[in-house]
Amino acid sequence: MITVEDALASILAKIKFKGIERVSLEQALGRILAEDVVSGRNNPPLDNSAMDGYALIAEDVKSAGPDNSVRLKMADSIAAGYESDRTLQRGEAFRIMTGAPVPQGADCVIMQEDTEKDGDDILCLDRAEVGENIRLAGEDVKVGETVMEKGIQLLPSHIGMLAVIGRSSIAVAQKPTVAVLSTGDEIVDLDGDATGPRIYNSNGYMLSAQIKAAGADPVYLGIAQDTEEDLMKHFEWALNCDVLVSSGGVSVGDYDLVKASLDKLGNEMSFWKVAMKPGKPLAFGRIGPRPVFGLPGNPVSSFVSFEQFVRPALRKMMGANQLGLKQVQARLTETITKRTKRVHFMSAELVSDNGEYSVSPARVQGSGVLKSAMNANGLLVFPLDREEIKSGEIVSVQMLEA
Ligand code: AMP
Ligand code: MG
Repeated sequence: MITVEDALASILAKIKFKGIERVSLEQALGRILAEDVVSGRNNPPLDNSAMDGYALIAEDVKSAGPDNSVRLKMADSIAAGYESDRTLQRGEAFRIMTGAPVPQGADCVIMQEDTEKDGDDILCLDRAEVGENIRLAGEDVKVGETVMEKGIQLLPSHIGMLAVIGRSSIAVAQKPTVAVLSTGDEIVDLDGDATGPRIYNSNGYMLSAQIKAAGADPVYLGIAQDTEEDLMKHFEWALNCDVLVSSGGVSVGDYDLVKASLDKLGNEMSFWKVAMKPGKPLAFGRIGPRPVFGLPGNPVSSFVSFEQFVRPALRKMMGANQLGLKQVQARLTETITKRTKRVHFMSAELVSDNGEYSVSPARVQGSGVLKSAMNANGLLVFPLDREEIKSGEIVSVQMLEA
């Protein structure tokens, strides 16, 4: 048995970057950025008002208060999207809307709520500081600033920023295509007959979703029966993809024929068993240049092994800077014990209070209990060489939420 660390290192050593493509901004969500993005403009482009109110000179209203209003002449009005062609003079105020450029001569904006109108004049009922309610040019982004570094996965806020600086297309990593093959005579598709001993193909759908969440493209290949012939037929289809992922049939049962079928297709096996729980049986090899992952069939094992090994591999193929799940340190809320010399990944609830995390393992752990994994927001990492971790000790937790 190989350790989780060695297994991951051995996988990553064989993974190559797939390539770059250009996509429009509408297509960019969830993609891995493949360029450093440098802004060609300031945002905001000009000093502008953060409020609907009046632009003026702070010195003019320094004595203003609720019982001591200061009268200014309203000399112009500026809407967002327009500039005043006048320079504001002492004793004047310009009406100004949120986002409109601050006129020459003014050094602050007083909000409408602190004023009253009186014919063509306004009465200021409060003083103002120089710079008050003014958003400075380049306060958000400056010309020449690197706003995003390559290797990040684009979130909605990144899409917003790309639009702020006027980028309509962007270089991203090509998505690897990942064949998803489920195996087992007992497995049926969602429109199949799941009566008696048969169960639905949950792994196929879950793994496809995990592949998408990692930023790659799943190719759903359905279900192979537990015969070498049917497995080989399906794996041959899978050779059109960049990566192969199967679930089930990889253990030591009489009908666990995934390894034998892969061998016949020329698979160069790197390792087969990993010192972890759930998910000890895990075959990794290559057919030609294609990485092949034979994941265990139990749903939680399949889920956890994907996150430990397949996700980092796919993300390395896309040049992502975060390969595995994000990990934090958390204080354990109860003592946990184990007897195996394997790493346990335990479904857990991670809670943040006052900048510190605490973590509680789910009541029910087990490789078939998907509900615990579903309700978990973390995977508590119980290291290989530990048999007991006491309540109050600090442990590593992988975060399941993005
Ligand atoms: P195996 O590794 O093939 O022996 O499968 C281990 C367990 O996982 C068995 O209880 C299988 O029924 C279950 N299993 C295997 N493949 C799937 C699948 N695609 N969806 C849901 N459960 C599965
Ligand atoms: Mg099976």
